[in-house]
Formats: sequence, structure tokens, C-alpha cells
Amino acid sequence: MADYIRIRDLEVYANHGVFKEENTLGQKFLFSFEMEVDMKRAGVSDNLDDSVNYGEVCRKVHDFAKANTYRLLEALAESVSRMLLMEFPQIISLKTEIKKPWAPVGLPLDTVSVEIMRSRHQVYLSIGSNMGNKEAYLKNAIQELDEHPMIHVRQVSDFLVTEPYGGVEQDDFLNGCVELETVLYPEELLDALHEIEQHAGRTREIHWGPRTLDLDILFYDDLIMDTENLTIPHREIPLRDFVLSPLSEIAPDLYHPVLNKTILQLKDECKGKSGI
Ligand code: ADP
Ligand code: MG
Repeated sequence: MADYIRIRDLEVYANHGVFKEENTLGQKFLFSFEMEVDMKRAGVSDNLDDSVNYGEVCRKVHDFAKANTYRLLEALAESVSRMLLMEFPQIISLKTEIKKPWAPVGLPLDTVSVEIMRSRHQVYLSIGSNMGNKEAYLKNAIQELDEHPMIHVRQVSDFLVTEPYGGVEQDDFLNGCVELETVLYPEELLDALHEIEQHAGRTREIHWGPRTLDLDILFYDDLIMDTENLTIPHREIPLRDFVLSPLSEIAPDLYHPVLNKTILQLKDECKGKSGI
């Protein structure tokens, strides 16, 4: 049984639409939200800080819908949902409906609307460096992640020193794991990670060669995907003690959706295997 706060038909006059006239003249948009919120604390404390301030939600939606212009209701709904999920951590999941009562269809209709359901995603990353000031590279990367408007850093493991793998002669690694919450989709997150790697001066010369910063996606909720650019869960999790050790610090009971084992189980089984 879940708890919900609902907002129905918040009216905002704004400029979204595919036609030029819509972008200049504007029209009426009606926003409705169903916010899943755990209300037990606020139910007992009677304190607004324990819940979601729906007045603030309305103001943020109003300001956002006025300040940005989208062609599609789909894009407006996606962006508004992301903004609310990042601004209000108490919202567990969110249904957003946007109605356009004056949609220029040329035929009589009541409203046109889109409705989407979104939530934050829980992600685990491995971070590593084996060049220069390794600790500074890792710490900067974590700070950059947390400053990203669509990422919140939730937990960081200790860093551990590990010997290089992959048969290339190079310096020791410093490795760790990070737990994030994000509204980015996997490919968008990978792009964001590549950008942060680039800021650390990462170049891709030798595969498994020295690097200032390596950010890999280990898990993304319980998603299983395998495309040309992205394999989730990361393929080498069960083989790498330098991933499983720090990960078991912050998520010992996390379940591997393919191997059907916890991180602690995988860590125990990994002992004694090579690091590749
Ligand atoms: P590696 O991490 O294997 O040492 P790179 O960091 O150079 O090597 O990554 C090479 C490519 O691996 C990335 O450009 C990305 O497209 C792909 N890749 C596949 N799965 C993942 C994942 N789970 N996390 C990060 N990159 C991945
Ligand atoms: Mg990588």
C-alpha cells in the first residue's frame, strides 16, 4: 500500500508546441501529479519537513514551464518529472499528466494529454585511477558527479590499492565504488561519465593501459542490457575483487540480477581467482 499526494490541473499559461503560433501566442496547460511519498513520518510528526511541500511543487512547476519551451508534451512531461524527482528526494515515484485543452487540432475535443510515470534510478559505479594524483582524480570525479544536475551521490566506499590487471606494465590502481541516484537513462549516464573522464584528461590509447580516471557502470536498478556500447550489469563484476571488495562495503546484500547472488556471495567466490 503506497501513500500519494495529488495535485490536479495546476494551470500554467506557456509556449510549448510544434507550431510557431503556439510558441509566440501561448496557451493553457494543465498539470496533474500523483506523487508517491512515504507519509508515515509526517503522519506522526505533523511536520511539513517530513513531507513534500505541494505549494513549492506547484511554484517550481509553474516557473519551469514558463522558463523553458518544448515542442512536445512528451518532452515537457519528461523534463518536469526529472526536475521534481531531483528537487524533492521524498518523492519515491511520480505520475505526471499534462493536458492541453486548446490543442490546435481543428476539430472539437475536450483535452489532449500525455501521462508518464517516472522514478529515480539506483546506480553503482566503479571508479579507478592509476596515474598522477590518483586520490585527487577519484575525489574530483565524485564531486563532479554530485554537482551534475541529474545525479545525487548517495554513498562512497573506501579506496583500495590494487595491482594492475590485463598484462600491461603499469602503476598500481586506486579503486572504489559509488552509489548514485539519477534520472538519467543508461546511455545518457555513460555520456556523462565519459565527459567526467575527459575532464580528468583521460585518453584511450592502450586497452587496459594506464588511465587517470575510469568510471564504469556496475548496476542500474536491476536492469539487464547488452548493446554495442553498454553491458549492464558490468561483465567483469564476478571476476574482480577490486570491485567486489569496495562494493560489499556499501551494498553487501545487493542482488546480481543475472547471477542471482548477492555481492557478498560473489566476493567470497571470487577469492583466489585472478583479477581479470
Ligand atoms: P574499460 O573500462 O573496459 O577499461 P573503457 O573505459 O575505455 O575500458 O571503456 C570502453 C567502452 O566500454 C566504453 O566506451 C563503453 O561504451 C563500453 N562499456 C560497456 N559496458 C560498460 C559499462 N557497464 N560501463 C562503462 N562502459 C561500458
Ligand atoms: Mg571504463
